[in-house]
Order: sequence, then C-alpha cells, then structure tokens
Amino acid sequence: MGDKLDARCKCNNGIDSFWVSPEAHYPLWSFFAGLLLGVAPSLPDRIRWRCRTCGTVIAESRDQAVRVQHQEM
Ligand SMILES: [Zn+2]
Repeated sequence: MGDKLDARCKCNNGIDSFWVSPEAHYPLWSFFAGLLLGVAPSLPDRIRWRCRTCGTVIAESRDQAVRVQHQEM
C-alpha cells in the first residue's frame, strides 16, 4: 500500500501544482494536549494535498519524512 502522490484532480493539478496546498492533520489528542498543557504540536498525523480550485483532496501521505517536512514550528 503506497501513497499515490502522483494523483491529479479533475483540473489536472498534481501535488506540485500552484493550486494545490498541503494540509497538516493532527490527531485529536495532540490538539487537546496543546490546549491544556501548552505543548507544541507534535508530528502531524497525516498530510493531505488539496486543490484550491475544486476542493478535492488528491493525495494523502502518512510517510514519516513527509510529515516531518510539513511539521509546524
Ligand atoms: Zn482541482
């Protein structure tokens, strides 16, 4: 089961497209930990690439390297 990072939406935008933005998704416990304890967000649970033109999520990755890359400071 690999990540389909070469997928395209109906506008023919891929994850490298100007119109596609990565979204970092954090697990719920991470949100509450930040709220209650003031801890910085940990590693995102997953990264999703969404086309801003049609709103379609064209790819999702749970790859460790990808998650580190999109981690918020
Ligand atoms: Zn699109």
